[in-house]
Amino acid sequence: MLEWDYKDIIPIDLSSDCLFCRIVRREIPAQIVHEDEQALVFKDVAPQAPTHVLVVPKKHLGSLAASTDEDLALLGHLQRLACRIAEGASLSSFRLVTNNGRGAGQSVAHLHYHLLAGRPMAWPPG
Ligand code: AMP
Repeated sequence: MLEWDYKDIIPIDLSSDCLFCRIVRREIPAQIVHEDEQALVFKDVAPQAPTHVLVVPKKHLGSLAASTDEDLALLGHLQRLACRIAEGASLSSFRLVTNNGRGAGQSVAHLHYHLLAGRPMAWPPG
């Protein structure tokens, strides 16, 4: 049985200095590849694969675990958007991953999906 480490849950950060909220507000520059009403997609500043973009909701959610059933449509939108970005870039294989909690490697406390492609991917991830 899986045990959840509650210390891993990053609380919703409503402060105005959230890095990705600041990118959404254009206070910090980013290489934006897509924008719509609900989401922003931009290149990761430290790419781990030839294609590495971040699919980010404009709504501030500290992590996936901070989402609620009210966010079901938003979460679906983010995943379908990742598929459309991959299709648009003719990526037949890609990895879509979110790190939830510091123990899983989350370093920015605003929900984001990494869309990675363009090189062989190992499993399990490190
Ligand atoms: P995670 O460690 O899963 O929370 O992912 C955070 C990602 O954000 C990392 O891959 C970072 O390289 C990326 N990142 C941090 N700052 C920026 C920035 N200013 N612009 C684009 N990507 C960033």
